[in-house]
Amino acid sequence: MSELWLDITDIPATGREFSFSDQSIWTGSIGEFDLPHRLDVPGTGLAATFTVLPQNRGALVRGRLAGKVVTPCDRCAEETMLDVAVDFELFEETPVDGEQSLEPGLLRRRGQVLELDVASLLWEQFLLALPAKPLCDENCPGLCPQCGASLKNGPCSCSKEEGDPRLAVLRQLKVPNGSKQRH
Ligand SMILES: [Zn+2]
Ligand SMILES: [Zn+2]
Repeated sequence: MSELWLDITDIPATGREFSFSDQSIWTGSIGEFDLPHRLDVPGTGLAATFTVLPQNRGALVRGRLAGKVVTPCDRCAEETMLDVAVDFELFEETPVDGEQSLEPGLLRRRGQVLELDVASLLWEQFLLALPAKPLCDENCPGLCPQCGASLKNGPCSCSKEEGDPRLAVLRQLKVPNGSKQRH
């Protein structure tokens, strides 16, 4: 994962706003985890803006990540451009010297300097912004389970000839008396 630590030591109590749109924050991890998402297509890309508010024993981070990502459809695998957006607000505790935290947070102290792990923050928010099953269209018919052809542009040849064997059984059950049996 790409590293990006932000110095948040001297932020006034009213907070300070930060913006990030360097795509390598996300593309580095996409490549590392071998994920199929792409941000390098014209018109795509992500941007994040957030405010850091110092608190007694940590910091409040509040912001939004939004943009466009190209990703394969969960049903037909065709690349499709998605709008993603997520609002976030999280409290991060300042690590205490000498105490080993079981769950390392997004803040670290280096001497007197307090730093926020921006790469991890924005990567987590990106994963949260993505739909679990991205679809090119909510009515996407997906792929034929027999021949693997995309059914988006009409039925494949095998669905005409045989159809789904499970459906064929149902069809026979439904044939009313007297009607012709199709072959
Ligand atoms: Zn699809
Ligand atoms: Zn087919």
